[in-house]
Amino acid sequence: MDNCIFCKIAAKQIPSTIVYEDDDLLAFKDINPAAPVHLLLIPKRHVATLSDCDDSHVDLLGKLLRLAPRLAAEFGCAVSMDADGVPSGGFKTLINSGPDGGQEVYHLHLHMYGGPRPWRNQH
Ligand code: AMP
Ligand code: ZN
Repeated sequence: MDNCIFCKIAAKQIPSTIVYEDDDLLAFKDINPAAPVHLLLIPKRHVATLSDCDDSHVDLLGKLLRLAPRLAAEFGCAVSMDADGVPSGGFKTLINSGPDGGQEVYHLHLHMYGGPRPWRNQH
């Protein structure tokens, strides 16, 4: 897709800090992190929003969501329970869709935020 910044990142036409890549997906650090760990997980193939997804995207969406806890663990943000069942760690996943959903970049992306709080206010 011409003029899509995340397509350009996926095509390595503009630089980013890539933390994961496979045939379908790419993950890179958000340029303006709102938490100690803030990654963006995207399909390499252009899809503008979650509203553009249909049944043909179900596998891709599953892979995208599955990647989040994997990267969370890699970046030290996995949820863990102590012997008394008290949880610690953790991360947040977010997909903004459309103007009312706060989407700024129209290439589907899953935010993964993690790390010790406090995080930036709106998150
Ligand atoms: P959203 O509001 O959900 O569309 O989020 C877009 C996100 O993309 C924001 O958190 C931006 O900081 C991030 N972003 C924009 N341009 C870049 C870039 N070139 N590299 C990494 N992250 C970016
Ligand atoms: Zn794109």
